[in-house]
Amino acid sequence: MLRSLTRKLSTMSKEITRQAELFQHLAAVEESIVKECVAVGRPRTAVNLVAVSKYMPESDIQILYDAGHRDFGENYVQELVRKAGTLPGDIRWHFIGALQSNKCKVLAKIPNLSAVETVDSASKAQKLNDNRTDNDSILGIFLQINTSGEDQKSGLAWDATEEVLEVARAVTKFPRLQLRGLMTIGSFSESHAEGVNSDFDRLSKLATTLQTELGVPIGLSMGMSSDFLEAIRQGSTNVRVGRTIFGNRPVKT
Ligand SMILES: *Cc1c(COP(=O)(O)O)cnc(C)c1O
Repeated sequence: MLRSLTRKLSTMSKEITRQAELFQHLAAVEESIVKECVAVGRPRTAVNLVAVSKYMPESDIQILYDAGHRDFGENYVQELVRKAGTLPGDIRWHFIGALQSNKCKVLAKIPNLSAVETVDSASKAQKLNDNRTDNDSILGIFLQINTSGEDQKSGLAWDATEEVLEVARAVTKFPRLQLRGLMTIGSFSESHAEGVNSDFDRLSKLATTLQTELGVPIGLSMGMSSDFLEAIRQGSTNVRVGRTIFGNRPVKT
């Protein structure tokens, strides 16, 4: 009896500690976003906060969901399928990982997938569109742009304006997709340097060009734990924050 009570108490206290920790982190991120928005004269609603939950347990996501948070980002298709299958159906999932053609189908079948942020071709957009049904929400699409020119980064080249325009035009023609904007990860050095981030600047300029050509609003998915405030200063409409909310990720086994 005593032993099982002690065990239960210990589990409970761990759960409560984790809950407090996550609430505190989310509140701190929210507060800094609000302050930055005020400082640059943008409404808080202009910036969507995606909590990046890759490698993190369902229980963590449920805690933030219970606090009212709805947008979560995942990098791995299998992990996302598993989590989406057990967590509440009104979560807005964002897929932010490397997008392979052969994974588009299974991804598109997640009814409450809100956005795929890493589209880099019209053929992947087509696959996403074709595997969506009328019962699913309209799928938001961000085109991933390689703004730093680093080989290991995915995405369309930042200076290939015509190609980006072509893919963007294709996306606007698919009935089950909605073009939401452009996404970048940016280089480590830019994210840790003072002043204007040139990756964000390139993304923002490209978005302005697209907006003029296509006549639709083009959002900017940019900013992670190390640089989301600078990203908001430079016009981000969608920040993707992982470690600052969840703490360090466990090493993948
Ligand atoms: C992991 C990841 C994030 C979150 O990064 P943090 O540094 O943990 O905030 C954001 N965007 C993408 C594309 C990621 O892969």
